[in-house]
This record gives sequence, C-alpha cells and structure tokens, in this order.
Amino acid sequence: MNLSIRNTGPITTLLSWVLLLLRHSINNALVIPLPPLSASKQHHRGAEGQVPLPASLSFHHQTRTTPTPIAPTTTKKSSKKIHHWRSSSSSPLYSSNTDDEDDDAQSPVSYDEECDVLILGSGPAARAIATLLSSKSPETNLNVLLADSNYDRQWAPNYGLWRDEWNAITSRYQSDFNQVLGEECINREWDVTDGYFGGSFDIPMEQRLRVDRPYVRIDKEKLRDALSPAEDGGGGGGGGSASYRVLKASHTSEAISPNVYAPSGSLVHDDRGTTIQLRPASGTNTDGTLSVRAKIIVDCTGHETKLVLPDTRSATPPPGFQIAYGALVTVDESNSPDKTHFGPYAKEAMTLFDYRTDHFDSDPAFLKKATQIPTFMYAMPLGGNRIFFEETSLVARPAVSFMDCKERYLKRLKHLGIEVTGVEEEEFCYIPMGGPLPIKDQRIVGFGGASAMVHPSTGFSLARVLMGAPDVCTAIRRGITTDGASPDRIAADAYGALWTPEDVAQRNFAVFGGEFLMAQDVKGLRGFFDGFFRISQERWGGFLAGRPGLPNNNCHDTWLARMVFGLVFIAKIPLPVAVKMFLAIVESSLGAIDLPQSVTPLFGNPDGYGFVERPDERGDVAAKSEARKMIAESKVEEEVPVFLDIKKEQ
Ligand SMILES: Cc1cc2nc3c(=O)[nH]c(=O)nc-3n(C[C@H](O)[C@H](O)[C@H](O)COP(=O)(O)OP(=O)(O)OC[C@H]3O[C@@H](n4cnc5c(N)ncnc54)[C@H](O)[C@@H]3O)c2cc1C
Repeated sequence: MNLSIRNTGPITTLLSWVLLLLRHSINNALVIPLPPLSASKQHHRGAEGQVPLPASLSFHHQTRTTPTPIAPTTTKKSSKKIHHWRSSSSSPLYSSNTDDEDDDAQSPVSYDEECDVLILGSGPAARAIATLLSSKSPETNLNVLLADSNYDRQWAPNYGLWRDEWNAITSRYQSDFNQVLGEECINREWDVTDGYFGGSFDIPMEQRLRVDRPYVRIDKEKLRDALSPAEDGGGGGGGGSASYRVLKASHTSEAISPNVYAPSGSLVHDDRGTTIQLRPASGTNTDGTLSVRAKIIVDCTGHETKLVLPDTRSATPPPGFQIAYGALVTVDESNSPDKTHFGPYAKEAMTLFDYRTDHFDSDPAFLKKATQIPTFMYAMPLGGNRIFFEETSLVARPAVSFMDCKERYLKRLKHLGIEVTGVEEEEFCYIPMGGPLPIKDQRIVGFGGASAMVHPSTGFSLARVLMGAPDVCTAIRRGITTDGASPDRIAADAYGALWTPEDVAQRNFAVFGGEFLMAQDVKGLRGFFDGFFRISQERWGGFLAGRPGLPNNNCHDTWLARMVFGLVFIAKIPLPVAVKMFLAIVESSLGAIDLPQSVTPLFGNPDGYGFVERPDERGDVAAKSEARKMIAESKVEEEVPVFLDIKKEQ
C-alpha cells in the first residue's frame, strides 16, 4: 500500500491524516508488541518534552540501553510517525553521516518500518540470532525486526542432539548473553545411544553397538518460545524473554546475481543500508507491500533461500538430500514379552541407526533395492508405549522417494513384531546437505540453512545453528556500534565470523565424508559406522560437531587433527571399505585441492569471507606520480591527462 502525503489543500490534508491513521493501525496490527515501557520510563520520556503518542498509533520500539542504535525522526506535520532515514547524534548507526547538511536538504524518505537488523524467517536460525542480537546483554541491544508471514506456524522437525552439545550451547547463551534456554526445552533424554550394523563383514545381525553418550529430544514448542519475544511482559525462566519485534510479512525478492534482485526495486542496497519490500501475511487486511529499511539483513529462510546465492563456481559438489518418513506412534504392548523394549529397541536408549536389512530376506527385489539405495531406522522411545520411528536415507543425490521410506518403515516394523495402534504425527524430512557455501561479498548475510550450515555428512544442524548464532551476532553488533562501519563491512565480518578459513577447511572434510557416504551401498555404510563408533568418542564426536564451540570440535579443527582422525578411522573399518575410501581420497584429491587442503598443510587454508578494503588509490601510483612530476616540469606538456589521476576523486 503506497500512502503518501501531499499537502495541497485542507481536504487533502484531512484525507492524508485519515490514510496515515489507517496505515499505522495496519502496521500495528502486524507488529507483535513488546512489553510496554515501565511507567517511570514513560514519564521520563514525557519529561524530555516528547508528546507521547496514543498507544494505538505508536510503533513498538524496544526499551534500549544507551547508546540507542537507531533513532527515527518524526515529521512535525503530523503527530503520527513517519520515519526518516537519518540517525540521531547519539546513534552509533550511521554516525559518520550524522548532522550531514546534505541529509537535511534531501527530501525525507519514509518507510513503514526501520531497524538495525532485519531477520528474514522464523525457524531456529532466525529466532536464535534475533534473540541474541536484541539481547540487552552484554552491551547495546539493537533494534531487531524479524519478518515471516508464517511466524505463527509450528516448527515441523523433531529435533534431536547430543546432551553435551545442548549443555555447551545453553552455558554460552547464559554466560555471553544472559539468555536462558532452560531444561524445559528438553522433553526426553536417553543416557545411551545404540546402533545396529550387523549383516556384513561378519558382524552378527543382532549385534548392538552402544555408546555412552546421552542424546536429547528437543521440545520444539518450548525452544521456539524461549527464542521468542515475551507476549505477557514476562521473561526469565527461559521462556519468551527475547526483545525483537515481529512483522508477519515475507519478502518476495529473488537474487539474480550477487547483490542484484528481481523484481526491480523490491530490494535495494545503498552505501548506508538496504530497503526491502515485504508482503504482509494473508488475512492481515492489507494487500500492499511494506517498505522496511535496515542497516543489515540476515536471511534465515532456510536451505532454499532466494536471496543468498551459493558459489556454484567452487569445487564443492551440489547438495545431497536427507529424506525420511517418520511417525510418532503408539504401540500395542499387550503381547510383548519384554516391556523394556519395542522389538529390539531398548526404551532406555536412543537408536540412532538400524542399518539391518534382514526384513527383506524373503523378497530379493526389495533386498536388492534396499542394498543399493540404503535407508536406516532412527528410533526415539518417548515413554510408555509411545515411540518416534523414522526410516531415513542418510544422504543421496538424487533424493530417495518418501514412499520407499514409508514402505520400508512398515515392513521393518512388521518384521520386528512391532504393532502400531495409533499415529500421532507424521514427519516428512527433507534436508539439503553440503553444497557450495555462499558467494563472497554478498550484502545479505545468510545464516542457518541459508548459509549451508547443515552438516554435510549427517544432516544435523540445530546445534551448529544455535552455537553459530553468538559468533555472527557478535560480529554484527560490533559492526553496527562501530563508527562509520559500512554495511558491506558488517556483512563481510558476519560471514567471516561464520566461515573462517579454518571452518571452511573443516567443512570441506565433512563434504568429502558426505560424498563418500552417498556412494556406498548398505554394506559399505554398515562397515563405515561400525568402525566410526569404535574410535574414541572425542574423535567421532568432533566429526559430528563441525562447529567451533561444540564439544570435541578441537579434535577436528586443524589439518593435523583431521589427518589423525582419518588414519585412526581407516584402521578401524573393514578392508573393502578402507580400500573404497582410499580410492575416493585419491579421486577427490585429483579433482580439487579441497580435501588435501583440509588434511595437510600443503595448500594453506581456503579463502575466508572477511572484508576486502577497496584501495583508495588506483593503478601504479609510483609511475603515475613520476609522470605527473615530469609534466609539471615540462615546458611542452601542461595538462595532466585524466588517466594519471591517482585517487578516486581528483
Ligand atoms: C523433518 C526434519 C527433521 C530434522 N531433524 C533434525 C535433527 O534432529 N537435528 C538437527 O540438528 N537438525 C534436524 N533437521 C534439520 C534442521 O531442521 C534444518 O536444517 C533447520 O530447521 C534449518 O533451520 P533454519 O532456521 O535455517 O531454516 P528453517 O527451519 O527451514 O526455517 C526457514 C524459515 O524461513 C521462513 N521463510 C521462508 N521463505 C520466507 C520469505 N520469503 N520471507 C520470510 N520468511 C521466509 C519460513 O517460514 C521458516 O520459518 C531436520 C529437518 C527436518 C526437515
């Protein structure tokens, strides 16, 4: 909706006021309010001489500590707020432009919303980074706006992660940001984790491989609440204490090349920030677009982002896909001889992998397919007779069929004598894994799936996203509160915090892992994982972590640590699998330097994402200076040709 004021006569003025009122009512209906300012604070603001706006008209700006990162000005023509894109003298944002005469001379541009950081999306990545960026600790909390027309939707995935990873995340959120993620975010914990890799390489079919590493299931509603703003003014206790604002609207732009977007004008960068048009959620009684101005945009719209372009010119292969059909079911246990188990699955354990295929022994066609295109069962006993089963293709390109997963899940349960009496939930898991990292020098910061943060060999991403958020948040905060930091620099620093050269090298190693796993039949996978879980927990745990700050990552964050891991691991796996791995290493190393770079010092580290300053001077300054000097002394030449200019502006 494009509502502009043209002050051409009394009737028009009246009409404009009515339209403005309407516009702000719509905006306020879309923005989820923050808790009201305390009475004393409101009084204080009044005492500063500002006329308090009626609650129904006011924007919901958060209470901030000083310095205030952004201070939209208000037109004197109207008591309603029209935001102009300039900063106050106390603002670290755009402070280099403060009191700029030219700014005042320019006709003011108005926006429906302004913020320091606009977060797109409302999944785990979006809410985690929005929560930390808007946190009042440790320093300035920024003006953070999160936009997603699907904000109210539940999170679909059933998230599981290792207990020690969860503990590391919560203690970092508490210590660095005073942000509590409480124990209520965990709804089930298993002390031990099981795997079944029998049926090949003389591993008995019934053999269980148990690791003493506790695993937890996230209560997705509780975690979502904990990473959301308080609707009741509450806070603390881990629930709803975030301070960001919410706009139920989505972007419709698409990057057509780095930093260029279609449709034209829907997303425009300039030297001081970005303006983006958002479409409000359906059912919000407005059919226009909302213009939002931000210093920085963080794209958390998931793996298939339309704004952050992957670097398809890199050597990294395209993504593989994890596909799974899952169901939370109740089981008839009336005939069960052992109520401590569901079939073979112990209730006290999380079964991470069951790669057996004996349920197809009587059906050669099924067995052949299940051998060539492997899937495994992931089983989370939830208490009583409830359990979540998921038949999963770890990673494949092209993706396996959901129907195949469902059929295999049904056949496996039948074979195991597990009788399902009710289905509470179904889950269709689709996770792009690996693939290229974002192109460098993009102004929009990708985070979460949008920045290819999913583990390339396992599909895990929650722990990586939650642990990556503090790093990116710190870089963005530092940039926004630094005088004169350009949005390009802030974006590059945010990417740089997420993908240091060391992180990229570590990821390249995991990408190789994903490619190797994709090429294996079920026998290869059984041999691989049986060996994998027989090396030390620190080493396999570090491989699964793959993000600084997560436990055991130090066992994988240098070329030497990865080389040692590789040698120890290859010695544990059956010879045929080791030979395949050796051949894969040779093939990969002949094609690109990514793998040798990640396990040897020979090629240094990959390029990082940091900001590259453009030089102020152009060309060969010495040669140009010499020519300029000679021209000055010349009796023939008088004018210095333009090509001898040295500075950009001369
Ligand atoms: C079924 C399933 C099970 C999984 N299990 C696990 C697990 O056990 N452990 C684990 O670590 N990982 C797991 N994963 C992987 C993990 O869930 C994802 O990788 C993770 O959700 C990615 O988080 P994200 O916030 O980046 O993106 P998403 O969670 O995909 O969120 C994207 C958000 O962007 C919004 N959006 C989209 N387009 C726009 C737009 N144009 N404008 C504004 N907003 C937009 C969407 O509404 C959504 O809120 C699982 C994934 C699936 C699908």
